[in-house]
Amino acid sequence: MRLDKMLSNMGIGTRKEVKAILKKKLVTVNENIVKDGSTHIDPVKDEVKVDGEVITYQKHIYLMLHKPDGVLSATRDLNMKTVIDLIEPAYQHYEIFPVGRLDKDTEGLLLLTNDGDLAHQLLSPKKNVEKTYYAHVEGKVTSEDEEKFKVGVDIGEGYITKPASLTILKSGPVSEIELTITEGKFHQVKRMFEAVGKKVVYLKRIRMGELILDPTLQKGAYRPLTKEELAYCE
Ligand code: URA
Repeated sequence: MRLDKMLSNMGIGTRKEVKAILKKKLVTVNENIVKDGSTHIDPVKDEVKVDGEVITYQKHIYLMLHKPDGVLSATRDLNMKTVIDLIEPAYQHYEIFPVGRLDKDTEGLLLLTNDGDLAHQLLSPKKNVEKTYYAHVEGKVTSEDEEKFKVGVDIGEGYITKPASLTILKSGPVSEIELTITEGKFHQVKRMFEAVGKKVVYLKRIRMGELILDPTLQKGAYRPLTKEELAYCE
């Protein structure tokens, strides 16, 4: 791997900033000053230091994002802001992507990573990873809805959803609920409520597998997963 790529991947700076750091003779590889960013290094075996500090290479990056309303769960879009636009440039070289999709108007937990294997683990239909959503629903959500979701409802083209667990937090003209599903069909939560004649007017994902949305993360904010959270994912 090129030295400049490794350094910018590790958040030392943009390629341009890294070039300036190299020029200032602040970077050593196995105790030898290296000024040429195109130098190839083994990021695991070679000891790279910046200003005397060892830079430990991390191949994968895992960020928990509190997705706000109005941004796309995509890596890029010609016209609209995407979740990747919310992430600072230091992470851009990692080529991170969102694990699964939330609708543009859905908020909440979104994992961003460059670890394709983990993404596969979390998204594979065979793994039945639980996702919990908090929602405001127009109409009185009832225990009959709970029963229907437990069995499965037809969300179109004859597709019957897998058993899902509905908790009614507040039942009224606009109800508040939590729904746990193990699938990820397009607009699934909205279509499940449509199937019982109700409309989701606010949707937020609060859990995916063992990952719980950090309540201290403001909308649009993100942070790396903690060691404990990473252990859940492995
Ligand atoms: N279900 C939906 O309807 N929308 C989402 O964004 C996620 C699940």
